Amino acid sequence: MTYFSLGLDRVKERIYSACQRFGRDPAEITLVAVSKLQPLEAVQAAAAAGCRDFGENFVQEALPKIEALAGSGVRWHFIGHLQSNKTRDAATHFDWVHTVDREKIARRLSAQRPPGLPPLNVCIQVHLGGEDTKSGVEPDAARGLAEAVAGLPRLRLRGLMTLPPPEQDLDAQRRWFARLARLRDALREAGFDLDTLSMGMSADLEAAIAEGATLVRIGTAVFGERPGAGG
Ligand SMILES: *Cc1c(COP(=O)(O)O)cnc(C)c1O
Repeated sequence: MTYFSLGLDRVKERIYSACQRFGRDPAEITLVAVSKLQPLEAVQAAAAAGCRDFGENFVQEALPKIEALAGSGVRWHFIGHLQSNKTRDAATHFDWVHTVDREKIARRLSAQRPPGLPPLNVCIQVHLGGEDTKSGVEPDAARGLAEAVAGLPRLRLRGLMTLPPPEQDLDAQRRWFARLARLRDALREAGFDLDTLSMGMSADLEAAIAEGATLVRIGTAVFGERPGAGG
C-alpha cells in the first residue's frame, strides 16, 4: 500500500493553519477524503493512515469500496448527483447524502433507509448561481425543501452543501461560502437544527473554513490527480 503517497498530512496542516488564521477550532471540522475515480488501494491506504470519512460521487463505483472496508468503522458520504434509480443503494450503503435537492429524492431515501440503520444524515445542496452545475435547489426554495426533509422519519437533516464556481482569489471564494452560511443562519432562525456546512474542496478549503465550514470535501489534495480524469 505504501506506494500511494497521500497528501493527508499537508491537507491537515492546511486545515489547521486556516483554523488558526480565521479563529476556528480544528475539532469542528471533518475532513472527508473524496475518493471518486481512485482505486480501492488508495482508499485502503488513506483508511490505514487514519481517514475516517470518505466521499464518493458514483454509487456503482462506491459499492465495492464500501464492501471492502466493511467493519472498519469508516463513514461514507455520497456527494454526487443522485438519480432516483440509485436512491436505494445510496440509502442502504451510505451514512450521509450531501446532495438532496428535490423532495422526490428525499422521500425515496427515507422510505428506502433500512430499518436496522440509524436515520440517514442529509444535507440540502444549494445552487448559489454562476457555474455549470444544474444540481442544487435555488436559495429561495431551500426552506421549503428543509421542511419536507425534516418531516421524513428516516432522514436526519444536518445542514447545507454547495459546490460554487471556481474562483482564483480568497475573497471571491469567501463570498460564495458566506452566502451559504447566511442561508444556514436564516434556516436556524426559522427553527431548523442544523450543525453542518459542507463546503470547501482542494482549491478553496481555506475560504470555506473562514466562512464556517464544518465539513470539507477534499479529493485531489489528498489523493493526487484523479486517474483518467484529465486533471
Ligand atoms: C470531486 C468533488 C470534490 C473534491 O474535489 P477536489 O477539487 O479534488 O478536492 C468535492 N466535492 C464534490 C461534490 C466533488 O464532486
